[in-house]
Amino acid sequence: VKLSQIGEFGLIDLIAKHESTRPDTIVGIGDDAAVLQIRNSKYEIRNKSKILKSKSKTYLLITTDTLVENVHFKLKKTSFYDLGYKALAINISDISAMGGWPTHALVTIGVPKTLSVKAIDELYKGINALARKHKIDIIGGDTVSSPREVIISITLLGEVEKENLLLRSTAKAGDFICVTGAFGGPAAANYEFRMYEPACRQAGAELRNIYSRKITKAHVATSMIDSSDGLVRSVLEICRASKVGARIYEDNVPISSGATLDQVLYGGEEYELVFSVPADKLAKLLSLKLGISIVGEIVGRKTGVKLVDRNGKLKSLKSGGYEHFK
Ligand code: ADP
Ligand code: MG
Repeated sequence: VKLSQIGEFGLIDLIAKHESTRPDTIVGIGDDAAVLQIRNSKYEIRNKSKILKSKSKTYLLITTDTLVENVHFKLKKTSFYDLGYKALAINISDISAMGGWPTHALVTIGVPKTLSVKAIDELYKGINALARKHKIDIIGGDTVSSPREVIISITLLGEVEKENLLLRSTAKAGDFICVTGAFGGPAAANYEFRMYEPACRQAGAELRNIYSRKITKAHVATSMIDSSDGLVRSVLEICRASKVGARIYEDNVPISSGATLDQVLYGGEEYELVFSVPADKLAKLLSLKLGISIVGEIVGRKTGVKLVDRNGKLKSLKSGGYEHFK
C-alpha cells in the first residue's frame, strides 16, 4: 500500500495505534499537543516567612510542526523572515488550542549548502521577533544539510493550568460550535504568506493565543482545536475524538473576502480556534466580546457531520482539509 492511497490522516491513524503506557502521558497522539504530567515536580512558594511546597498545578504541553519548501512555501513568494515567523506561529496555534501558553522552542533547519548566511539570519530574525513577543526561549534544535529544499521544523513546549486544559475529545451533544475570525482567506489568496498584510493569518495565530486564554480561563468551552487543516476538518476531528456528530450552518460561517464556499469549508491555514460551548455558557462567552461566531452545533454521533444549507437542507461534506500524500 502506497502513502498516496491512505493519505496523511490514514497514516496518522496507523501511527496512533501506539497506545501510551506511562502514567505521566496524560494525552498522547491525537490532539493539537501532547499533555504531560511533570512527575514529582514540586514548586515552592514563599508565603511571609514560610516556604510552602506544593505539587505542580500545570501540565507540560509539547507540539511540533514542520514546513517544507515547495510543499508549504515557495522561496520566490515567501521571505526568510516571514518563514521563520510562520514556523513558530503555527506551533503557537497548537499550544493555544490546548488552552495554554508557549514557553520554550527547539528549532531544526535543513538547508542546502548553497544558501546564503544572510538567509538564515533573516529566518532567525523572524523566529526571534515572535519568540520575544510571547516570551519564548529558543533552547536548542538541530542543523542539517538538505540536498535541495529548505526544511524548518519547530518543537514548541508550553504550559497550561490543569483546570484550564482544553482537549478535542470532550465536546458534548447540544454544545454550540464557535469560531474566531473568518475562513477561506489563505486559500483565496493562494496561501501566499506576507507577515505585514493586515489580514495575515499568522498574525491571527498570534492574536488567538490571547483569545484562547480568555476562553479557557472563563471555563466556557468543552473542547477546542485550531483550524490549520480547514473548518470542516477541525469539526470532523473534534467529532471523531469526542464521539459525536455536528451540523455546520452554511449561512453562519464567517467568510474572508473573495473566498468561495469550498475555500471557506476546506481551505485551511487560517489558524483560527474552533471550540464547543454548552448553551448555558454562551452568554458568558459573548460577554467576553471577542467577536466570536456561532457556526453550528454538536449533535449525536449517528447523524455524522453535515452542512445545513441556507434552505435548511442537510448536505454531506467531503472528508475535507489539506492532506499530505494525496
Ligand atoms: P495538528 O494539525 O494539530 O498539528 P496533526 O494533524 O499534524 O495535528 O497531527 C495529529 C496528531 O497526530 C497529533 O497528536 C500529532 O502529534 C500526531 N502525529 C502526526 N504525525 C505523527 C508521527 N509521524 N508520529 C507520531 N505521531 C504523529
Ligand atoms: Mg492543530
